[in-house]
Amino acid sequence: MSTFPFNPISPWLNEPEGLQPSLNADITADVVIIGGGYTGLYTALGLREAGLSVAVLEKDFSGAGGSGRNSGYVDGLIGKDFPSLLKLYKIERARELCNFAREAVQKVEAFIKTHNIRCEYEPNGNIMAAVHPKQIKKLKKVAEAGEALGMDFTYLGPEAMRERGAPSPFVAGVFDAVGGTINPGLLVTGLRALAIAKGVQLFEKTEVLDLADSQPVVARCKEGSVTAEAAVLATNVYANKLGWKKRLVIPICTAMCETAPLTAEQLEAIGWKGREGIYTAHEQLENYRLTARNTIITGGKYVKIPYGYQVSDTTYLPNLFTKIEKVFRERFHELPDIEVKTFWGGWIGMTLDFMPALGVTGKHRNIHYGLGFSGHGIPQTLMMGELLAEQVQGRVHPLAKVLKRKVITAPPEPLKWLASHTLSGVFSSLDYFTDQQARQLKQ
Ligand SMILES: Cc1cc2nc3c(=O)[nH]c(=O)nc-3n(C[C@H](O)[C@H](O)[C@H](O)COP(=O)(O)OP(=O)(O)OC[C@H]3O[C@@H](n4cnc5c(N)ncnc54)[C@H](O)[C@@H]3O)c2cc1C
Repeated sequence: MSTFPFNPISPWLNEPEGLQPSLNADITADVVIIGGGYTGLYTALGLREAGLSVAVLEKDFSGAGGSGRNSGYVDGLIGKDFPSLLKLYKIERARELCNFAREAVQKVEAFIKTHNIRCEYEPNGNIMAAVHPKQIKKLKKVAEAGEALGMDFTYLGPEAMRERGAPSPFVAGVFDAVGGTINPGLLVTGLRALAIAKGVQLFEKTEVLDLADSQPVVARCKEGSVTAEAAVLATNVYANKLGWKKRLVIPICTAMCETAPLTAEQLEAIGWKGREGIYTAHEQLENYRLTARNTIITGGKYVKIPYGYQVSDTTYLPNLFTKIEKVFRERFHELPDIEVKTFWGGWIGMTLDFMPALGVTGKHRNIHYGLGFSGHGIPQTLMMGELLAEQVQGRVHPLAKVLKRKVITAPPEPLKWLASHTLSGVFSSLDYFTDQQARQLKQ
């Protein structure tokens, strides 16, 4: 059996040396936040700014969830894709959603700048790319939908792709100048430091075991509790375990890997002068990006869908690791000898309509939640943090209405398992044929 150089979190960050203490007393705060990822920390910062006392309870350390494991694309996308938005909603509503996603990117950019968070942000935009000319039809539909929605998308035909210096496996694309790529570990580390500096009480290695439906609300942990006027569920894909908002977030596990740094010659060989984030036009997309250390990070395409809504702690996924490395080597044949240095995995929290859900629950309407970022959490968690901070204080942020809708939860098992596996099977078959044709192109 082959083994993989595996990182149980990701190569973006390690457990911090100065871990914050774990909770070992019964304390009170104005607000208790469960989860110390982007959502929890942004919300905590908003509440501190308003002068409230905030306790953030994090079962591991800040960044151990999706916030420290992701691919680092800062994109202005929302919903499944732009053509689907146009099919599902009236044009005004679709525009509103797109503007929300674009504004979220601007906010994250402004936040990084204002607080001088050094997170290797490269605002080079992102490209949705075809690996075979048959995907061009889809790209054109995306470009048209983008235009109808007022987005500044540029369709890049085969010549334009080569002129741009995009890597050779990608035969055409749609360029979106909004956003770029980031080091997600540095972002969450910077946020954590800022939150601590602003007086947020962060408790790490502190798992909330029970969140009582009471007024005040009580979050109980193994060796202490927090009693507060309001609670915020910022647990994203891990929400189900606590028993709140079960079946709202559908967990999907995905694998990632990072190569060794490319030499100047290797970089020259692949091109990629624009250093855009690239994701493919497959049904189950592949993603490729360069890092500040000139490695390539790739993942996506293959997923593990569990039975039920609980996520497992282990993200060692040898089967998926083998597959993503194989696809990477096939695409980047100019780099035959490059070593893949690290593999890791992470849980993505999807909603049925691929959009985040904001709300309040509990008998006393004091348990607020912002969950289900469906792969776009880097920008959208910041926006969610703003909306949650307002909502907890009894106010409605002007942008909250954009996320307002009847959020449909996924069906119980075994229906969810059957439906998601059927859908994933269909998508994989379609992608398989595209990849077969892409292979034939090269021969
Ligand atoms: C592999 C991967 C690639 C991705 N790529 C991108 C991308 O390129 N761009 C993008 O925008 N988004 C991407 N995402 C999604 C993005 O990472 C998430 O949307 C975002 O991190 C969500 O942040 P969060 O704070 O809501 O959740 P998290 O970061 O998951 O934080 C939730 C926290 O809650 C803690 N927790 C859970 N239960 C409890 C409990 N009972 N008690 C105490 N603490 C608890 C967890 O330990 C965790 O730290 C990706 C995700 C993954 C996994």
